[in-house]
Amino acid sequence: MNLYSTNNRSLRVPFREALFQSMPADLGLYMPADIPRLPAYFLAQLAEYSFPEIAFVVARTLLHEAVPEEELRRIVNEAVSFPAPVVPLGPETFVLELFHGPSLAFKDFGARFMGRLMSYFLELEGDQVLDVLVATSGDTGGAVALGFLGVPNVRVTILYPKGKVSAIQELQLTTNGQNIRAVEVAGTFDDCQALVKQAFADAELNERMRLTSANSINIARLIPQAFYYVHAYAQLLRQGRSEVVFSVPSGNFGNLGAGLLAWKMGLPVQQFLAATNANDTVPRFLRTGQYAPKPSVATLSNAMDVGNPSNWARIAELFAADEARLRSLVHGYSFTDADTRTAIQQVYQTHRYVMCPHTAIAWLAWQQWRRENPAQQHVVGVFLATAHPCKFPEVFEGELAAAVLIPEQVRSLHERTLEKVELFNNFEALKNYLLSATAEVGS
Ligand SMILES: *Cc1c(COP(=O)(O)O)cnc(C)c1O
Repeated sequence: MNLYSTNNRSLRVPFREALFQSMPADLGLYMPADIPRLPAYFLAQLAEYSFPEIAFVVARTLLHEAVPEEELRRIVNEAVSFPAPVVPLGPETFVLELFHGPSLAFKDFGARFMGRLMSYFLELEGDQVLDVLVATSGDTGGAVALGFLGVPNVRVTILYPKGKVSAIQELQLTTNGQNIRAVEVAGTFDDCQALVKQAFADAELNERMRLTSANSINIARLIPQAFYYVHAYAQLLRQGRSEVVFSVPSGNFGNLGAGLLAWKMGLPVQQFLAATNANDTVPRFLRTGQYAPKPSVATLSNAMDVGNPSNWARIAELFAADEARLRSLVHGYSFTDADTRTAIQQVYQTHRYVMCPHTAIAWLAWQQWRRENPAQQHVVGVFLATAHPCKFPEVFEGELAAAVLIPEQVRSLHERTLEKVELFNNFEALKNYLLSATAEVGS
């Protein structure tokens, strides 16, 4: 697979380069130069395939030139090592649970796949050590930390703002040991991000270490997210359902982008719903044809508080030749925090099922689509559950709070040793730490 930049269609780089660079020098996004279709025999027999088999076929279809088959099979098996079940909540409504991975959020799929691919290429180059530097406001850091945990040849340093991540998130960042180091910065998330940017621009650091950002716009994070759309569709086929709408709670639109990639590869999805909170740049665009980003506003579903979604350029690119098709395939919906709270209550009262606030937005979009399409009541809706509700304890009270079951991944966190380095919001301090620390690299 060769990739071009959304800012330069004549550029061509091999997959390996896009993986390590994350972003082209012209600040566009890497896109596959052509998107192959899934094999016809595979689509015809989809219901027969297991999740790891589906993941492997999708990965091979895209990456067969970049990674030998047996290595790719191993990487996929290690990355997709937890289930993504489609759970019924009524005859036509299903929830695709993407929170059974180590950090309890769908970002685990992307982070685990990217980490293992990087490790594979590093090994080819003679066991060079890669230093991954990330700033996090919570969720991404946990997925990256756990995605790279124990991955050979990679060392991860995570910067997070003191007192500004949840208790569970802090435990996920600080109790890993091995090749993961947590740095608590006396500052804000923006300060952390500024420090990381400064590190990437520092000549001495770049001479002494091989630095990368494991950025969320890395193409290797998008690809494995296509796996679970295909797998969800296969699970519905087994129940005799083939007309499917996916409702995707969206912030930076990587998740929806991956669904559209699966569609482009031949998955016969009827419709996608772009479900957002008050940060409704994309729903407004789908309605008006005007792409007018706004500064983000804070909401209950804060992993979706994005005013100018970084992956939208990819989606626009997929439909560059046919924007009308984009607007017929993807419908946009936006909901308030009050809507979100009501939805969480209603689904709990009706189904005894607790949704995280992001997931609730996707459920709301599916409900609205159903009301707007009375002639399509036989169509099945799958809304994506992007995180486990226990990650957002501040959202739930009383009976609901008691109904949130704490998964084993979280219970065991409390028994582990918390390790962190505390730094002032000061670049020289970070630089000295990076140059002097000799944390072991996982084997
Ligand atoms: C990151 C995140 C989202 C948004 O996903 P995008 O791919 O950025 O659209 C939604 N829900 C949760 C819980 C997240 O962590």
